[in-house]
Amino acid sequence: MNDNELIQKVLKDEISLHKIEEYVTPEKAVSIRRNVIEEYAKVSLEGIANSTVEYDKILNKNIENIIGTISIPLGVAGPIKVNGDTAKGIFYLPIATTEGALVASISRGIKAVNESGGAMAHVYRDGMARAPVFEFDTSEKAVEFTKWIEKNQDKLSNYANKTTTHGKVKSMSCFILGNNVWLRVLMDTGDAMGMNMLTLASEAIAEYIEQNFNGASLVAISGNMCSDKKESFVNELFGRGKGVVADCLINKKILEKVFGVQAEKVNNLNIKKNLLGSSMAGSSKHNAHFANVIAGIFAATGQDLAQVVESSSGYTWTENRGGDLYISVTLPSLEVATVGGGTSIKQQKEVLSIMGLNSNNNLGDGAKKLAEITAAGVLAGELNLLCALAKKELGAAHKKLGRNKSN
Ligand code: NAP
Repeated sequence: MNDNELIQKVLKDEISLHKIEEYVTPEKAVSIRRNVIEEYAKVSLEGIANSTVEYDKILNKNIENIIGTISIPLGVAGPIKVNGDTAKGIFYLPIATTEGALVASISRGIKAVNESGGAMAHVYRDGMARAPVFEFDTSEKAVEFTKWIEKNQDKLSNYANKTTTHGKVKSMSCFILGNNVWLRVLMDTGDAMGMNMLTLASEAIAEYIEQNFNGASLVAISGNMCSDKKESFVNELFGRGKGVVADCLINKKILEKVFGVQAEKVNNLNIKKNLLGSSMAGSSKHNAHFANVIAGIFAATGQDLAQVVESSSGYTWTENRGGDLYISVTLPSLEVATVGGGTSIKQQKEVLSIMGLNSNNNLGDGAKKLAEITAAGVLAGELNLLCALAKKELGAAHKKLGRNKSN
């Protein structure tokens, strides 16, 4: 079989993506697999093939004092069928990781999701947050300030919106503690994650406040009620980035065929592990491993890696519906972008192109689409891990795929 015949067979699903190594050397298999993705997504992955970073394009934009690069292997899971509000279709899920068994485990979850008709996914809330903190002489003045903000919100929003052509302030909320007030500004930032855009907009707001409200003194443009790169309830309740929910009903026959488990067992495990266990542990991450999928996609697509912290908080909810398993994941604070930051680096851009995220007609649709695809991947990851645990086969899977004993 020549290369092209092999590629066509994989595309027709006659040979699985993970079985290419049975026909050619491991090195050759990497390029064949890449060719499959190029042909499937109708894109060129030349940058990923060469893996050389264009230093002149990233210096003092994405990094300083550069000495080289660190390689993280890039794999694809799926493809997964997503029935989203913005993401509609079948997408390969790019995962950059050194964690063996991760891509395989997401792929097994995807198999069950696809056989069940695909994952539903919806962005239910959208807006990046920045919360400057102001101090006043007295609490009376702080309260007066919150009333002034209510009256002047439109004026302040218009002033802030002048700092960006794509961003638009959506709302402002005040939080008081003694003589201090945190002004949490929420902005629609289009396809950008928006942290730089909103910081500039918040600076404009703070300047206007200091000039027009007597007694307001800015302590810091970021007062941690934002809350960037930290676990917090404020993000879960008020939002930061995209709030996304994805779900699927897995038929009992598919559950039995793919995982060899029953809905009752998986549902019981979800309650005991993700809800009770996490609560006892004092964790707001009521899930099995959102961070695995989020980190893999973030590294592959050039997202801000430290935002894996809040992006991977959220809930897995299951129900036993007469033997079928209903499973959903809710991610209240998923911060993703298809524009700006690390997304503009050549390889990361190519990875985004695999999911068709390089050109979008409507402002904001690229980031929303990425959020829905990510949530669908997280759903598949949760489904697989919960089922593997219910079947008591986690150790066996990692023995086979996830260990590299040689040094
Ligand atoms: P950015 O690259 O600083 O800004 C996005 C740029 O893309 C803006 O200039 C925007 O123009 C433009 N743009 C073009 N098409 C757009 C579209 N379709 N949607 C939205 N914008 C579009 O990125 P950012 O998202 O604001 O900030 C992300 C970066 O901030 C990351 O590198 C992250 O590491 C860093 N970061 C900063 C802070 C901070 O406090 N400053 C904190 C955490 C992370 P307009 O401005 O004219 O709208």
